Amino acid sequence: MVRDGIADPWGARTPYGPGTPWPVRVDSHLAEGVAEEDVDSWVRAAAVLHSNGDGMDLAVKDGRIVGVRGRADDHVNRGRLDPKDLFGWQANHSPDRLTAPLIRRDGRLVESTWDEAMALIVKRSKELLDSSGPGSIGFYTSGQLFAEEYYTLSAIAHGAIGTNHLDGNTRLCTATAAAALKESFGCDGQPACYDDIDHADVIALFGHNAAETQVVLWDRILDRLAGPNPPALLCVDPRETPVAKAATLHLAPLPGTNVALMNGVLHELIANDRIDHDYVDNHTVGYDDFARLVADYPPERAAEVCDVPADQIRAAARIVGQAERLLCTVLQGFYQSHQATAAAVQVNNLVLLRGMLGRPGAGVLQMNGQPTAENTRECGADGDLTGFRNWANDDHVAELAGLWNLDVTQIPHFAPPTHLMQMLRYAENGTLGMLWVSATNPAVSLPELRRVRSILSQERLFLVVQDAFPTETTELADVVLPAAIWGEKTGVSTNADRTVHLNEKAVEPPGQARPDLDIWLEYARRMDFRDRDDQPFPPWNDAESAFEAWKRASAGRPCDYSGLSYAKLREVSGVRWPCNEDHPDGADRLYADGKFFAKPDYCESYGRDLVTGAPTEPVEYRATNPDGKAMLKAAQYVELHEKPDRDHPFMLITGRTVYHFHTRTKTGRAPQLRDAAPEPWLEMSAHDAERIGAAEGDLVEVRTARGAVRVALRVSAVRDGVVFLPFHYGYWDTDDPNHDRAANELTPTDWDPVSKQPIFKTTAAAVERVKAGEGPAPAPTTAASAPAATGIPAADTGPADAPPPTPTAPAVPETHGGPAARVEEHDATTVPGGRR
Ligand code: SF4
Repeated sequence: MVRDGIADPWGARTPYGPGTPWPVRVDSHLAEGVAEEDVDSWVRAAAVLHSNGDGMDLAVKDGRIVGVRGRADDHVNRGRLDPKDLFGWQANHSPDRLTAPLIRRDGRLVESTWDEAMALIVKRSKELLDSSGPGSIGFYTSGQLFAEEYYTLSAIAHGAIGTNHLDGNTRLCTATAAAALKESFGCDGQPACYDDIDHADVIALFGHNAAETQVVLWDRILDRLAGPNPPALLCVDPRETPVAKAATLHLAPLPGTNVALMNGVLHELIANDRIDHDYVDNHTVGYDDFARLVADYPPERAAEVCDVPADQIRAAARIVGQAERLLCTVLQGFYQSHQATAAAVQVNNLVLLRGMLGRPGAGVLQMNGQPTAENTRECGADGDLTGFRNWANDDHVAELAGLWNLDVTQIPHFAPPTHLMQMLRYAENGTLGMLWVSATNPAVSLPELRRVRSILSQERLFLVVQDAFPTETTELADVVLPAAIWGEKTGVSTNADRTVHLNEKAVEPPGQARPDLDIWLEYARRMDFRDRDDQPFPPWNDAESAFEAWKRASAGRPCDYSGLSYAKLREVSGVRWPCNEDHPDGADRLYADGKFFAKPDYCESYGRDLVTGAPTEPVEYRATNPDGKAMLKAAQYVELHEKPDRDHPFMLITGRTVYHFHTRTKTGRAPQLRDAAPEPWLEMSAHDAERIGAAEGDLVEVRTARGAVRVALRVSAVRDGVVFLPFHYGYWDTDDPNHDRAANELTPTDWDPVSKQPIFKTTAAAVERVKAGEGPAPAPTTAASAPAATGIPAADTGPADAPPPTPTAPAVPETHGGPAARVEEHDATTVPGGRR
């Protein structure tokens, strides 16, 4: 079968029933004029433009990537690919790749050599270390590099330099997933796996628009919905996403009220005794305090806060309360608000109260946004210590020092690793003198961009930026280093369900671009870092030796990689950690035995107060959870800091579209993806559009206390009172000198007190019509940004016999990709190259 991969991101259904294997469907796309038989080689990789971790092969011809194909033997995707994977690889060949180092001279970035650029970085590092100590140097990395690279960066920052200032852009993304798992289970680590979709009888998605953020995971759910005995679907989201359209029940709470909503649902569970008392008694602590707190949230109270009918809250509690195999998933709708961790923890509580852990179809997936966010966390490059070690446990720090053969005093552990927003503050007040940014674009992705630009462009801050493309952030750098990317280097990536894949180098990087691993190892050699035996540190020198070192660092910890090797990952397409002597083929689920990584001597964290973020003292943790059980914790609902008022009557949320990733550094350079969503837009309900006197396509100005942006209006099915802006758009592909396009011009400098994840989904905003548009907004019609009531059929998720919506506005042309977006779909019998 052939489909337009832009018009139909999800492809044909392959229905299946509970407990049966998900059928194979292999998606492939080759560049125009290239046929299967022209391909010189297929090289093993995994998806890197979302967190699903789909196994795939890269087609290589004459030293260039010419296409991709899903891997039928991969348990994550069984061959399917996201549109970003099908077309995004073209960015590797973009003519504007960075191919030589740049240094700033007389205010301008000019071409340089590796020798000169590295010498400058080393000189500045040494000056700062001599004058101000390790705390003057900080690193801000990504969720898109490989484990070997994060581990090396962690060893250099926390070990060789001894700075506490190392964080990842996963702070924007998965910090709350990690924090929520630590609060409930004592340690990070995804309890469930994607296979649980095959068994669940209820799937509840909390703030998780899987249809756009994890396309292939959504395919799997759609296939269950199309098969016999489909699961019931619960969706919590203020927008009418494809998930909401397919749901048995859709709750659309006001942004920032998730804690009240969840407290109401859990109140109902307890009131109707939908509790697995044996599980709770044997495997958890904290029930009495928990029950007392949620007793204050009858559905009527929650309904008033959330603006959701109380009956819907009762109905949601019935659905999850009657489930026999309940799978819950959570993402940014819960993670990017002011009580992020408290809300995500309530989902963990839900599965604990119902005893839904560690068996097929039952569990929780605290999702990630980025492809290798999991590795950033495990390796200790995002505000954690390597191998999920506890920075507040001296024995864990000593163990790490032993592994690295460094003095224990060299590893800073007087406080938790510094989170990014705090690092920015240090840069703002001048105590951070050097910031090394890798594979991320903070000048578009961080909140309150005017402030971010002013911090990053300070003369006194030495800014090093390592990237594959010119970005809004490289524009501000003192030194720019050209990086090799996926397809041009080797390393492992671990997805949101703990599946580890090997990505092999397929082609040479362009010009002088080099893998991040090589860049950091060269920096370490030039800095002459040494261990206690005066040997060069880190001692490894390439991807495989870095992986072997990482295996040793992970051994005995929850994220145990010791049973893995590159050789094994070349045989099997994806293995879930832990992989060790006890689990030689990996483990599908954690906590199957009702035992957690929460014992005081082993846990990754002693936890925090869910309202204030104050850390729990070790002695208190030992007293309340001596046996390392799962912890039931709850928080009172706290009102938003920035509530809508007369001047700013709307709640602004920001988010993604299915066709783009992050700040479009890659997807904006792939023609099919670029053209599917070429410009930003604002989504608003028909009722609110009428209130401000605007219509589809009109130019509107969105204003908050921080700034204003001007975009075209899409009248969509978002709930009244809420407006949505995609955050992908910055300034690299526009000549407009005004900063009036990026959603983060509007968002506040504020974060969740526990996970320190910035708040992107609760901003009070004003919206005004500026002038009539010249046509419909440039927003995709295929997913949550579909126009409301234009007569265009919605995505193929509703009941077949549903009446078409009544047209009330001029038709908006449907999003499609044309012949350039041709995707072939094969079943198990017609997979090119036979069964694999
Ligand atoms: S854009 Fe999405 S995936 Fe990327 S950091 Fe933000 S939330 Fe995570």
